[in-house]
Amino acid sequence: MDEFSGTGYGIARIRAPESDNNYNYIVWCTETSECAVIDPFDPIPILSVIRDKGLSVKYIINTHCHPDHIKGNDPILKVTMSEILVHTLGRDMVSPRSRALNGGDTIEVGKLSLKAIHTPGHCPEHTILVMGENVFSGDTLYLAGTGNLKNRGDADELFKTMENTIRTLPDGLRIFPGHDYSEPNLRFALDLEPGNKEAKKKLDGIRKIEKKGKEPAPTTIGEEKKYNPFLRYDSPEITKELRKRNPALGDSKASYFVELRKLRDEWK
Ligand SMILES: [Zn+2]
Repeated sequence: MDEFSGTGYGIARIRAPESDNNYNYIVWCTETSECAVIDPFDPIPILSVIRDKGLSVKYIINTHCHPDHIKGNDPILKVTMSEILVHTLGRDMVSPRSRALNGGDTIEVGKLSLKAIHTPGHCPEHTILVMGENVFSGDTLYLAGTGNLKNRGDADELFKTMENTIRTLPDGLRIFPGHDYSEPNLRFALDLEPGNKEAKKKLDGIRKIEKKGKEPAPTTIGEEKKYNPFLRYDSPEITKELRKRNPALGDSKASYFVELRKLRDEWK
């Protein structure tokens, strides 16, 4: 477990045991000790942090309803007074002890405010949460990557989300993603852009950290723009490479993005 803090809040980041490198989050108001749990997988480490810190769970927030992001909902509901917040489109996939969330809604946790932004693409209900200088990005944005489209995904929708929402977020926002796929994501980034020094530097850093058994530090939107191919789909380096691999490729940002997502799916 890693802890992060800022004025009035704390964030616990837990790598869920025996998961697909899932990150679970607890965010709490330091003044009232009220907290929200984001995307619970394994309830045990989450409840242990909650007990140790004397927190009370107001909400369980699901960025989306893939099984590995809602698995811990019911065990936490059972032992707390909380309720689930999930996008309207995901409501029927969680317990009825839930409330619908829509883009633009503000979630109050103690004195904290989390703003919900609808980011469809990885799946229709996907929603990210911005709290001050932090964003809980679920499976819409990872370190050097984005979520796949295997379970209700849509490449054109994901492109629109990247273009109109993610790329417009402030560069300084600190990213708390739903999974850690940093190493393979950066290898894919370098496969496309072998000359990208920022990607190389980041990959070297990640490998050192992994060797020590530690977690990567959260990155920012500004950092991701330097090496994340899914935010760089219209950069000259990437478009040149995409065209080399597929001379019949269309000439729009959307077609570059869709091609990138396809290459990532086929990439080993
Ligand atoms: Zn997912």
